Amino acid sequence: MSTDQLLTDFAQGLATGGITVVDLTQELSEDTPLLVLPEPFGQTAAFSREEISRYDERGVAWHWHNFTVGEHTGTHFDAPVHWVSGKDLPDNTVDKVPPAKLVGPACVIDVSKECAGDADFLLEESHIVAWEAEHGPIPAGCWVLLRTDWSKLDGDAYTNRREDGAHTPGPNTSAVQALIDRDVLGLGVETIGTDPGQAHLLEPMYPAHTLLHGAGKYGLQCLENLDKLPPKGAIVVAAPLKIRDGSGSPMRVLAFVAN
Ligand code: MN
Repeated sequence: MSTDQLLTDFAQGLATGGITVVDLTQELSEDTPLLVLPEPFGQTAAFSREEISRYDERGVAWHWHNFTVGEHTGTHFDAPVHWVSGKDLPDNTVDKVPPAKLVGPACVIDVSKECAGDADFLLEESHIVAWEAEHGPIPAGCWVLLRTDWSKLDGDAYTNRREDGAHTPGPNTSAVQALIDRDVLGLGVETIGTDPGQAHLLEPMYPAHTLLHGAGKYGLQCLENLDKLPPKGAIVVAAPLKIRDGSGSPMRVLAFVAN
């Protein structure tokens, strides 16, 4: 098949519905839940906006806003520079991510049943090995997306903050190391952070941030609709804003799925 034919077939698939585009992005608004750090740490900003004009004397024929948002608010991309372990890597900021890495295949590991009964569920290396026994090896350069169905929870249940911190699922150290061993592009999750809510108790603390970013890998957070993806075969487009020296960015994440 010629390379021209590949893109012609892709366009045909989009036009005929042979390929579905799934939106993996949560709505971004003033209600978007935030990661909250303990004192005295700085906090990420909520999304907020001010109206510039709405077909009125401030702009007779046009409607627009200015908005403020944290780099790590809502569905967003984590670049390696976000964590101290990745601070000296080359091309470690959102503007320097090679464009070819903004598009990649996805392997979806479904642990939604386990998470339904255990908010502190930890993905372990053994779960990854079991997934591979069923679906084949996780290839280098792919996104691993952790389906927890957490994005279906609302408000307080989604953030699940208690006196001792957040209780949300995520990978443990062995799982993170297994992903690095497979040379994945990064890890995508439905929760606010790639680490579990109680990751300060793990060794090292926050293994997903510490180890993945130290290895030059990326993170995607606050995804949804992972239940609409097959275990393998989807292609994900995850492109952060090209913020100079940015550590992360809100973005639209899309997946192409063959029917
Ligand atoms: Mn982040």
